[in-house]
Amino acid sequence: MKSLFLALGCLGLACAPVQRPVRAEARTGAFLRIIGTNDFHGALEPRADSAGVRLGGGAYVAAAIRAAAAECAPRCEVLLLDGGDMFQGTPASNTAYGKPVVELYNELGYAAAALGNHEFDWGIDTLRARMRDARFGILGANVRYADGRDVEWIPNDTIVVRGRARVGIIGLSTQQTPTTTRPQNVAHLRFVDPAPVVDAHARSLRARGATHVVVVGHVGGRCSETCEGEIFDLAQRITEPVDAIVGGHSHSLLNTTSRGIPIVQARSSGRAIDVLDVPFDRSTPAKGEIRPVLTAQITPDPAAAAIVARWTARVAGEFSQVVGNLSERLSRNGVQSPLGNLIADAQRAAAGTDVAVMNNGGIRADLEAGEVTYGELFEVQPFDNTLVRLTMRGSDLRRYLQQIVARGRPNAHVSGASIVYSRDGAAAGKVDTVLVAGRPIDDAASYTVSVNDFIAAGGDGLGPPAAAIVQALPIIDRNALRDYISRLPQPVEGPRTTRIRMAGEATP
Ligand SMILES: [Zn+2]
Repeated sequence: MKSLFLALGCLGLACAPVQRPVRAEARTGAFLRIIGTNDFHGALEPRADSAGVRLGGGAYVAAAIRAAAAECAPRCEVLLLDGGDMFQGTPASNTAYGKPVVELYNELGYAAAALGNHEFDWGIDTLRARMRDARFGILGANVRYADGRDVEWIPNDTIVVRGRARVGIIGLSTQQTPTTTRPQNVAHLRFVDPAPVVDAHARSLRARGATHVVVVGHVGGRCSETCEGEIFDLAQRITEPVDAIVGGHSHSLLNTTSRGIPIVQARSSGRAIDVLDVPFDRSTPAKGEIRPVLTAQITPDPAAAAIVARWTARVAGEFSQVVGNLSERLSRNGVQSPLGNLIADAQRAAAGTDVAVMNNGGIRADLEAGEVTYGELFEVQPFDNTLVRLTMRGSDLRRYLQQIVARGRPNAHVSGASIVYSRDGAAAGKVDTVLVAGRPIDDAASYTVSVNDFIAAGGDGLGPPAAAIVQALPIIDRNALRDYISRLPQPVEGPRTTRIRMAGEATP
């Protein structure tokens, strides 16, 4: 019986009492349809893109998944996977530590998910509690203890039966995890090279009877003329046959192959889903599609809508408070944006420092023009990071600000300072000019810098100089932004000056 329940996507107790007749087509499906999501980030409700088109939302994603599953029956068997970073990012999800997303995913019958870096944001105990709630494995085969031992509470792989296929699924975490969650939460863990891990588990899965091997990895990449990133490095170095890789983490749209392995990723926050058809007999190449989840064209799924409504109602009062008015939409796109400047200004004001540094990776959503609610600010800064005041000498400050452009392009915003750097040639990443309050830095003087506690702990490679004095402040970053916006003349404009710019680039 077990394989029948697995074939129907019923991995949990809720399905067990229901005995359904074996459908003839369950044994005759010609291909495996992998439906994938990734980086859902608690996005229970739809969100607008820069053109005002509404995308995603749990009830719409659910309807899109169920439609994709229904449309190929009975020729297909469906495997529903998530590429990780499921929970972190919205008031409804965060105040319940990801429970709403697990409930939604249980309802939809996910087979497995990858263990994303942000799954660690609320600590190991919370993650383990969500793993217990989930009727699907949250897999991280390349996570180890510092001494190399496998982590006993993180599952590595699983086998699910789909028609005549026994699909082995291997889950992976990004090697960037230590600098992209609270570093202290994973200090005892190591995120090892996934390629040999995939090879070892693929062999083991086949020895256990798997007919197909699929990787679901919180590993990403980008494609322009060429494709680059962790997921492509992985595909290049796997030696065992793998039928598909469902990715995540980079929030990009991927629908390609690398060394013949199909690779998909569906942006983020439920804006799209992967639909990848893999013929069971591998007689023809797999066919992938990234489908946008356009709310205007989809009837929301009633069961998922009920879950979303229940969880969002819990936070409606607290987070609907209006904190100010914006004259324009503030996007987080680009390495320097008015939204990033505004956040850095808010943190400098709240901490009362000479300079503020705000990591780009911590700016999680755009703000729409017009009234801004506290809930919208929550989605911009969902992490409950607190502010930290650093005191350092001018010579250290210059080196510290240099770190922001060390990778050839800025990975942070600043307030109170301006930086001119070189990007090309031998001088790449070198800083030409640094000004604080419009003046060159005095090496011997003392300066104060506000950062968040994520940066202060070494996140995004922006840890403070060893000699800096570190003082934790009891200020949540998002509240600094709320207070700052509410104090500014209304409607608020985003500060447009490009404070970190390449040599030769015009100053707007
Ligand atoms: Zn991630």
